[in-house]
Amino acid sequence: FNNELQRSEKMEIISELAASVAHEVRNPLQVTRGFLQLLSGKTNGGDKKYMLMALSELDRASNIITDFLTFAKPEFEQTSILNLQEEFNHIRSILLPLCHLNGGNMELTVADNLWVKGSSSKFKQAFINMIKNSIEAFGEEGNIDLTAYRKGDHVFIHIRDNGEGMDPQVLSRLGEPYFSNKTKGTGLGLMVTFRIIEAMQGEVRFLSTKGAGTESITILPLADAPEADSRSL
Ligand code: ADP
Ligand code: MG
Repeated sequence: FNNELQRSEKMEIISELAASVAHEVRNPLQVTRGFLQLLSGKTNGGDKKYMLMALSELDRASNIITDFLTFAKPEFEQTSILNLQEEFNHIRSILLPLCHLNGGNMELTVADNLWVKGSSSKFKQAFINMIKNSIEAFGEEGNIDLTAYRKGDHVFIHIRDNGEGMDPQVLSRLGEPYFSNKTKGTGLGLMVTFRIIEAMQGEVRFLSTKGAGTESITILPLADAPEADSRSL
C-alpha cells in the first residue's frame, strides 16, 4: 500500500511538471527543426551529416515531449468506438519498417467485431510503446505475435515476443517513471501505456522469462458496435 501511495504521489508531481513545461518547449523545438531542415537542404559534404544528426536528436526530444503530454492529460482527447482490427492494422503498418530493420517480423490475429471505447491516437500510443519495446528486445529472428479476442464482456490482447526477456526485478518496476535499461531510453513508455489503459478502465499484466521472451496481456471492456455497424450486420 505504501508503495502504491508513493507511486501515485510521484505521478502527480510529474503530471504537473509535464503539463506546464511540455507546451512551452514544443514550439521552439519545431522552429529549430524547420530552420535546420532548411539549412541541411543547402549543405553538402561533411557538415550535412551533423545536421542530420541534430535533426534526429530533435525528433527524439520531440518524442519525449509527446510522452509527457499524453501522461499529463490523458482524459482530454476525443473518444469514440474503436475497431481493433482497424487499429492494429494501422499500428502494424507504422511499426513494420522498424520491425524489419531490426530483422524481425510481426503477426496479427485479431478477431472480428472487437470494439473498445477510447481515443484512437491514445490507443495507438499505448500499443506502439509496448510493441516498440518488443522490437528493441529482439535478438536474431525476432518475432511478435499479437492476438486479440473476446471473452465475456472483455477484450483480451496478448503481445508475445521472443526477445531478451526480463528478470523479476525488472518486471516489478515496469511503468515506474524514468525506469529504463537502455542507453537512449526515456523510461516513460510503459508509464504512458499504463496510464492510457487505466483511463480506458482496463489493465495490463506482464509475464516474462529472461532469455526467452515477454508477453503482455491487456484487458479492456468490450464496447457495443457503433450504430452504423450493427445495422449493416
Ligand atoms: P524505455 O523503453 O524507454 O526503456 P519503457 O517504459 O518502455 O522505457 O520500458 C522500461 C524497461 O522495461 C525497458 O528499458 C526494458 O528494460 C523493459 N522492457 C519493457 N518491455 C520489454 C520487453 N518486451 N522485453 C524486454 N524488456 C522489456
Ligand atoms: Mg519503451
